[in-house]
Amino acid sequence: MQFVHDNTDTLIEKLHSSVSFNIIITTHHKPDGDAMGSSLALFGYLKQLKHTVRLITPTDYPSFLHWMPGHKDVIIYEQNEKRCKALAEEADFIFCLDFNDLNRINEFGSVVECSKAEKIMIDHHREPSGFDDYRYWTYEASSTSELIFEFIKKCGHLDRITPEIANCLYTGIMTDTGSFRYRGTSSNTHRAIAELIDKGAQNSMIHELVYDSNTPMRLKMMGFVLYEKLEILTAYNTALVYLTREELARFNIKTGDTEGFVNYGLSIEGIKLSVLIVDRTKLVKMSFRSKGDFSCNEFARDHFNGGGHKNAAGGQSSDSLDMTISRFTEVLSRYKDQLK
Ligand code: 5GP
Ligand code: MN
Repeated sequence: MQFVHDNTDTLIEKLHSSVSFNIIITTHHKPDGDAMGSSLALFGYLKQLKHTVRLITPTDYPSFLHWMPGHKDVIIYEQNEKRCKALAEEADFIFCLDFNDLNRINEFGSVVECSKAEKIMIDHHREPSGFDDYRYWTYEASSTSELIFEFIKKCGHLDRITPEIANCLYTGIMTDTGSFRYRGTSSNTHRAIAELIDKGAQNSMIHELVYDSNTPMRLKMMGFVLYEKLEILTAYNTALVYLTREELARFNIKTGDTEGFVNYGLSIEGIKLSVLIVDRTKLVKMSFRSKGDFSCNEFARDHFNGGGHKNAAGGQSSDSLDMTISRFTEVLSRYKDQLK
C-alpha cells in the first residue's frame, strides 16, 4: 500500500525478539465492525508471538459482533475500571486502533496518556492528534483492518493468519467499506479480501451474521424512522433524521441499533449530505455522510467537536437536542454553495 506513514521498524524488531511483553490493544468507544475486527485480529496475531495481550474497549459494542473470535476475552473499561488501570500501569505497549485522538476512548484516554507504555497508533482517520510513539497510518486505507492485514504482511507473517483472524479482518473491511462500495475501496482492498478468503474467511457467513441480525422491533423502528422522521432540506440537498430520548426508549434502542440509518438518506437521488442526530443520555451524537467533495470531517471538526473521514464522520454536542438541531441548520446555511 502506498503513502503509509510508518515508523514501526524498531517496534517490529522488539515484538519479534524473544522478550515477552505486556501488551494492551484498545479501540474507540462504541466500537464498530472495523474497530473490533482490527483489534481482535491483532489480538490473535500478537498472542501467537507469545506476548501477554489484553483487549480493552472503552464501552460495550453491538451484539451483531459478539460472534467474533476473541469476544469473550474483551475487557470493557466502563465495567472494569480498576483492573484496566492496573493493566495499563504494567503495559509495555498500547496499540491504539481505529482512532487517532485519545478523546475517542473516553475516560480510558487519560489512563493511556499517563501509562509509561509506548503507544502505537494504527488508523485511517484524518488529522491524528499526535499522542503516539509509533505510527502506521494513512487516510487512504479503506479500514484499519486493511492496515492490520498490511502490518502482518510487513511482519512477514501472512502465514500466521488463521481462519479466525481472517474472519475478523474480513468483517472490519466489509463493514467500513459498506460491503466494498465506498471510495476507500481499492484494488489493494480486494486483493487483501481475496487473500483472506483463501486463508479461511467465511465471507457469506459473515455478511449474514452482521447484516441479517435485525430484530422485528428494529425493522419496525427503521420503518418508523423512514416514514415519520426523514426530512429533506431541499435547498441544501441534505437529508436529516433526529431521534428523541422518548423515541429511543419506545423502541428499546441499544448500542448499534441506529447503525446504518444515516446511509438511507444518502440513497436518495441528488442528496449530498445525510445527517443523523440522536439524543443519547450524556450528549447529543451526530453522524454525517456525504457524496462527492463535501467534507464531513471538516464539517464535524469545525462545528461539532468531531471528525472522521471525508465522506463519513461523527460529532457531538452538549446542547439540548432542539438547540443542536437549530445550530445545525444555522451552520448548514453557510454551506449552500458547496452542497449544490
Ligand atoms: P459514525 O457516524 O458511524 O459514528 O462515525 C463515522 C466515522 O467518524 C467513523 O469512522 C468514526 O470513527 C468517526 N467518528 C464518529 N464520531 C466521532 C467523533 O466524535 N470524533 C471523531 N474524531 N471521529 C468520530
Ligand atoms: Mn475504521
